[in-house]
Amino acid sequence: MKVLVLNTGSSSAKYRLFDMRGDLTLARGAVERIGESESRLVHQARGGDSVVRAVAAPDHRAALAKIVDVLGETGALRNPDELHAVGHRVVHGGERFCAPVLITRSVLEGIEALQPLAPLHNPANCAGIEVALELAPQVPQVAVFDTAFHRTLPRHAYLYALPYRLYEDLGVRRYGFHGTSHAYVAGEAARLLGRELDQVNLITLHLGNGASATAVRAGRSVDTSMGLTPLEGLVMGTRCGDIDPAVAFYLARSGEMEYWDVERTLLVESGLKGICGANDVREIQRRAENGQDRAALALDMACYRIKKYIGAYTAVLGRVDAVVFTGGVGENSAAVRAGSCAGLEGLGISLDPEQNAAHSTRARDVAAAGAAVRLFVIPTDEEKEIAHQTMACVAAADRDSSSPHSLDI
Ligand code: ADP
Repeated sequence: MKVLVLNTGSSSAKYRLFDMRGDLTLARGAVERIGESESRLVHQARGGDSVVRAVAAPDHRAALAKIVDVLGETGALRNPDELHAVGHRVVHGGERFCAPVLITRSVLEGIEALQPLAPLHNPANCAGIEVALELAPQVPQVAVFDTAFHRTLPRHAYLYALPYRLYEDLGVRRYGFHGTSHAYVAGEAARLLGRELDQVNLITLHLGNGASATAVRAGRSVDTSMGLTPLEGLVMGTRCGDIDPAVAFYLARSGEMEYWDVERTLLVESGLKGICGANDVREIQRRAENGQDRAALALDMACYRIKKYIGAYTAVLGRVDAVVFTGGVGENSAAVRAGSCAGLEGLGISLDPEQNAAHSTRARDVAAAGAAVRLFVIPTDEEKEIAHQTMACVAAADRDSSSPHSLDI
């Protein structure tokens, strides 16, 4: 029972083919630099070497055709019709899409209509869906939304204190992102705690190039740091996170910058990069160890912001069973975990320095013995979560005879 997960961005299309019977990854890879003069395919089959080759992928259609070709060549998928389903990662589901949904023409139009909310992501996601529907018209395709896990935020947490009509007329509110990752690690954390998901309170920290914190009460997201867009919240690789919004007006008025310069500055020239010139935490840690003051400052700022969110979400939740670190930085940077937890003993948060420093790719607890709050490091697996949600959505549609199984597209 094969499920293909597609994550189509503006310049790349990532894929992973699962055999759901054994939860096995049969193949994974990406077409990178879509639209450039020479694109690149990176493909890895189960137990095989990586293949890296130059390909012509002037658009998403060509890129997805290359993916079908390489899966066919390597025998992982002889024919797209062999697929049980395709799961698409879609960044923004707005208020309409609160759960994974079987893709129909009306769903696709709905996702397209959300493009003003996610101009960098939803158009590419839609392009991927359109092409996949052409390549595998008989296969059920499911959209899994980054925003969906946060559908349970209460009104007082998702509304901004702006004129209410801006919410009603334009959908201005907190949506939150990284939901698939927060959902996956919340499930894994419950398993590590030996409890049902609806019995646990967690603070989940997805720390990658983009970063977000989520407060999870009884297994449900009740607050999250990203907002209308992924710009709000933690200090990220190149995004500033929380700032006084008047900074943007001030910059625009300063005469130094046009509107687009302000937007670009906050999105791609700020965060860690804005402070120290680099956004890869490995590089920043090396520079900090070599005495570069700005690199140390950038890490201090990122950790301080995480710590503030841990404090705030502890107040939101009242009782916290575990704080979960995930994402490339959360899983790998002992220094960021240590910096974020430093001085939080009063909240029952205390790291075991040795456990924290030990390298491992497994889910693990790095809290000091006897600390009230468990500190988990859990490798995220968004594709696996998308594959499982896709299977569940197709099964539910099969059960519900009123749902269109064949695509009305
Ligand atoms: P994305 O948000 O792009 O999905 P990831 O979750 O893959 O990002 O995280 C990427 C980031 O993880 C890199 O920019 C790098 O800063 C960080 N990272 C990866 N490995 C390590 C490591 N061993 N130590 C510290 N940071 C790391």
